[in-house]
Parts: sequence; C-alpha cells; structure tokens
Amino acid sequence: MARKKIEKCSFCGRSSDEVGMLLNGATGSICESCVQQAFYLALRSGHIDPKDFLDIMGAVSDYAPAGKPAAKKTKKATEKKPKMKVPTPQEIKAHLDQYVIGQDEAKRTLAVAVYNHYKRLDVVDNDDDVEIEKSNIVMVGSTGTGKTLLARTIAKLLDVPFTIVDATVFTEAGYVGEDVESILSRLLQAADFDVERAQRGIVFIDEIDKIARKNDNPSITRDVSGEGVQQGLLKLLEGSNVNVPPKGGRKHPDQEYTVVDTRHILFICGGAFDGIERKIAKRMNSNVVGFEAVNKRAELSAENIMQHCKPQDLRSYGLIPELIGRLPVLTYLNPLNREALQKILIEPKNSIVKQYMKLFAMDGTLLEFDDDALEFIVDTAVEYNLGARGLRSIVEKIMTEAMFNAPTEKPKRLVITKEYCAARI
Ligand code: ADP
Repeated sequence: MARKKIEKCSFCGRSSDEVGMLLNGATGSICESCVQQAFYLALRSGHIDPKDFLDIMGAVSDYAPAGKPAAKKTKKATEKKPKMKVPTPQEIKAHLDQYVIGQDEAKRTLAVAVYNHYKRLDVVDNDDDVEIEKSNIVMVGSTGTGKTLLARTIAKLLDVPFTIVDATVFTEAGYVGEDVESILSRLLQAADFDVERAQRGIVFIDEIDKIARKNDNPSITRDVSGEGVQQGLLKLLEGSNVNVPPKGGRKHPDQEYTVVDTRHILFICGGAFDGIERKIAKRMNSNVVGFEAVNKRAELSAENIMQHCKPQDLRSYGLIPELIGRLPVLTYLNPLNREALQKILIEPKNSIVKQYMKLFAMDGTLLEFDDDALEFIVDTAVEYNLGARGLRSIVEKIMTEAMFNAPTEKPKRLVITKEYCAARI
C-alpha cells in the first residue's frame, strides 16, 4: 500500500505552501526554516564545530542551482591556506647555528621574532579578538658580519619567498630612482607571481642606515633620498594594500597593478650604522654621573658596545621616529674577530673551504688546507679589514691557478700550504 504523503511540517505545523521546502522522513517531515533553526541551535550549544559550519557554508556557496551563477565564495571558508609548520625558536636557532658563526644574540632575537610573526598569521586567520601586532626587525652591525646571511637562511628554512633590496636605490616618489613599491615587485618575482605566497614572504632591506636624515632640521632642504624614502617605506612596513607595478620600475598611469597586502610580509632591515658606537657611548656616558660613570666607561669597549644599542640611538643617527616605531625588534651583530673568521672559513655547513673541496672533488682531486695556510688566510682578511667578505676573495685568488690546472692534470691530492698562499697573494 502506497504511503500517504505528509504535507505539513511536523515541527511548526506549516503546510508545504507556506514554507519553501519540506523534507519528508519515514514518520514525519521538517520544513526549511525549522532545519535552519535546528542548525543554529546546535551551533550555539556547541554541538556543531564552527569550523564544520564554515566548511558547510563554503559547500553551500559553491553550489549553484541549475541556471544560477554560484554564490560568491565566503572568504574564510574557501581561502583556507595549508597551515605552515613553524619551527620553534630553538629549532630556528639550531638551524642558524649550522650556517652562521657566533652572533648568538641576533640569532635568538630573530628566531623569536620570526616564530611570533608566522604564529601571528594563525591568529589573524582565526579572526580572534586578540590580534598580535607585526614585529619587523632591524639589525645593526658592520658590513660582512652576517646580517644578510641570517635573513636568507631563515627564509630558506621556512620556504617562503625572499628578496634583498638596497635602500640606497630608492628615492621619494616622483624623483629619479626607484619607487619603494618596486620592493614588492621583486618579492612577487621571487614568489613566481603567486600573490598569496608573496604576501607571506620576507624582505631584507639592506643599508637602511644610508637613508638616514641628512640634517637635524627636516625643513631646510628637501631630502628626497633620505627622509622622503623613509616616509615612503612606512606604509609598506605597517601593512597596507599597495598597488605594485608587476614589472618593477616606476609607476606609470597606463600600467596594470597587482594589489599586494603587506600585513603578513616580514621586513628585516639591516645597516652598518657606521659611527653609531659613538652615539651609544655618548648617551650612556651622559646618563650616568659620579663614581658610576667611571665604572660604566670601563665597561664599554669596542667589542661590547653594540649590545647597548637602543631605538633612540637609531633616532639620533637620523631614522625618523615613525620608521623606528615600525621596526619594534632591534638586534645587533658583533664585529668578527680572528677566531670567528677562522671558524667561518671551515665550520659552517657550506663553509668556503668545504665549497672548494667539493669543487675539486668533482674533478677527482682531494683538496686540503694545512693549519698554517688557514691562519695565513685569516691574517690577510684581518689586514684587509673586510670582515668575512674578504675571506672568499682571498681564497679565490689563491685557488685560481689550481682551478685552472686541476681539471686537466687531475692530481689525486692537493695540499695548500702557507707558502703556496703567500706566493699568490
Ligand atoms: P652583511 O652583514 O654585510 O649583510 P653578509 O651576511 O652578506 O654580511 O656576509 C657576507 C658573507 O660573509 C656571507 O656570504 C658569508 O659567507 C660570510 N659571513 C659573514 N658573517 C658570517 C657569520 N657570522 N658566519 C658565517 N659566515 C659569515
């Protein structure tokens, strides 16, 4: 016997004419609005996970009845990015230790800042009430001490797009030089023009000290390559939607722009800030009086003074307060002494010596440097005063002749001695 069709909602009693849709079950039926009410009730009482709700909403907005265009996708439901596995600060530091010698303080500070930055993205995605503010970083330390190396090594570890830009190429918009927006063009390139990926990248702005304000009174002359550029950087650093000319260069009215949201881009700035030691010393000495002053002066030495660097020193160097405010994490790198240079030569995972050994091994030659040779190379680097940068050029000069001959002569073993080095420098 055929079952009689039930025409009314068993919950609210309304007929199928009054409600949009009736779902018929074995012993009763439910209308569209009662389904909705039951759903919200279950959601509010915690019987449905809000995440499932968002998934369902995503599925609903994907569904389009025949002939109708699909509803606009809800952002949260459909733009779910795969969660990034963020290494802990200790893991980041341990990774940096494999490539960068010393600079413990900078490594720790960077590790924490980077960890918090990428954790922060989870919170933003969750749309929680507590939004953790972005912490861009500024690193102070002489040239060739490892600032770029640190930033590059972190980006590689996290597998995020990374670009290095030189602050000196920028001028205030409208003047000869590059606009600051071209920084983002480069990041886009590094991300293969995947905007989503670029928006989670890392930008290293080198030579930030070179755009310091030229004089104390900003109104005397127009400072298009100093303060003007600092002003231009502000909106990038704080996080905003920026129109980026995809090919870089200057903005042009006919050009198509890509909109890049800089909220999640981590900016790491680096600068040598030559002479900042004097400003630190001056500040510290003027802050103390009497007997304490004598002790304080004794405590300050060329080796340890950078650890006292504070935002106000950057300000007296010529960075504008607004820019300093957007670089809340300040860390320093120590100058590299003899011992550090020697370690840099041999210890890092891809140390200069290991790189040359690999090059020669490819031609079947076992390359070795004896201890005296290594000392000689370090001494020469100290003499040239180029930091770790000098090491590579010195070794390159020493090895050129051998690299020319070895692929033909294929010696089984080549030992580099101090005499061999001295004859080629
Ligand atoms: P900068 O501080 O000027 O950015 P870099 O990071 O570019 O200096 O360093 C130049 C090169 O010197 C690097 O490619 C790296 O080979 C070497 N180097 C500098 N500092 C260190 C360090 N602390 N540990 C290992 N290598 C270093």
